Amino acid sequence: MPTETVSRNVLLIFNREIMYNPVIYQAVMKFGILFNILEARIWPRQEGRLVLQLEGEEKRLEQAISYLEQEKVRVEILAERIKRDLERCVHCGACTGVCKTGALDLDRRSMEVMFDPEKCVLCGQCRMACPMAAMSMASIDMDVLTAR
Ligand code: SF4
Ligand code: SF4
Repeated sequence: MPTETVSRNVLLIFNREIMYNPVIYQAVMKFGILFNILEARIWPRQEGRLVLQLEGEEKRLEQAISYLEQEKVRVEILAERIKRDLERCVHCGACTGVCKTGALDLDRRSMEVMFDPEKCVLCGQCRMACPMAAMSMASIDMDVLTAR
């Protein structure tokens, strides 16, 4: 029976002690997962942040994430950093034109804008486009450690 693959968009945060360790390579080799780099930022000698799309069998993905955490990488699921306030949203559709991943999409049957946070890469475009300030998010560089 073919195994089902799933994908997760995650934010990996490396502190200065571990930021040059090849832990992603090791996770890929150990658990046979695939990854796609969506965004990378480095604050030299302070912190590194990577947004990755991980793909693989669900159990293997969980094992890979646990492995990264054991190696002291802070792993956050990107979907948990963004919210739509349905009390504010008027389903105008302005956000769907700027959302490149399809996380915000118009359901033509109900004419409502659907939101799938699992597809979000936290680009921030919808927040700028929304006239109702319905989208809120914690950007990926929020809370960067600045201690030297
Ligand atoms: S732009 Fe704002 S108000 Fe319009 S559909 Fe998107 S989230 Fe809702
Ligand atoms: S932050 Fe970017 S990817 Fe996420 S829902 Fe908004 S526009 Fe789409």
